[in-house]
Amino acid sequence: MLADDLLMFCRGDPISGTMLFQKFQKFSQASSLEANLDKSNMYLCGVPGLVQTQILDSLHIPVSDFPFRYQGIPLSTKKLSYIQCKPMIEKCQIFMLPKKVIKKIKGYYRLFMWTGDTSSSKKALVSWATLCLPRTAGCWNIRDMYYGTKLLCCPANMSWAMKKIFGCMPLVEGLCGLHTKVPWRRVVCNNAVTPKSLFILWLVMWKRIPTLDMLIKWNIVSSDSCLLCSSDSESGEHFFFGCGFSSQIWQKILDLLHFRRLASYFTTELEWIITCSKKGGDRQKQLVMFFVEALYSIWLNRNDKLYN
Ligand SMILES: [Zn+2]
Repeated sequence: MLADDLLMFCRGDPISGTMLFQKFQKFSQASSLEANLDKSNMYLCGVPGLVQTQILDSLHIPVSDFPFRYQGIPLSTKKLSYIQCKPMIEKCQIFMLPKKVIKKIKGYYRLFMWTGDTSSSKKALVSWATLCLPRTAGCWNIRDMYYGTKLLCCPANMSWAMKKIFGCMPLVEGLCGLHTKVPWRRVVCNNAVTPKSLFILWLVMWKRIPTLDMLIKWNIVSSDSCLLCSSDSESGEHFFFGCGFSSQIWQKILDLLHFRRLASYFTTELEWIITCSKKGGDRQKQLVMFFVEALYSIWLNRNDKLYN
């Protein structure tokens, strides 16, 4: 459902309805999230007329009839078809949807992630499954829409309950932290830098930053000579901070922040930054922020030379 919509279910009798409503009122008191009863409806199935009247008298919520439409699609007790779901593909819901619909929506998500819109196409630098991993695993914790798609991996003769359990395994693994934590997670998490600079750092960490040595393999450029120093091939290792230009910038930042240290290669600098990020002091936080913003600024400078 969308963020401020809520569906609640209970047995069709006055006691169950009242108890559910009381619990929700407690939740409202604790969270200050109250339901607008003028916009709420009650749907009753298989409830005798006399019991319906009792429920109505106790809850005072107007009764409505099935089927009703939510975000343009009919809410029904039967499995929805692709045609029925089509109107909501662009509205990004979480529903038990057919796999074809899920695939289509995921396609839009992926395109938006890498291009900023849903009309153009671009090669994804990191797989969608990786993006859905938790932040501590060095990813974006994007909620995968439908863990049920994992059921494809289950044996066909497995019971419905076991298939559901297997289908929830990625969710359970994510919640229980059964993933490999990356050592640089503190550099990314709780860092107050701009989202774009954090994203570039993240690509660097996953070795997915599209440097010229990568672009030449994709036949996008014809030369991989470093645009900043012209003395070597532009690879990830060279760019941060094997390149004399980027190394000088990093050295100037270290001097500016009064750290007595000679700028070294990226791996060495990253290890030091990770150690600093664990200390949590203001000076260390400032250093980590400068580190991330420095990478981003160097990358912007390089892009300016490449494209302009
Ligand atoms: Zn260079």
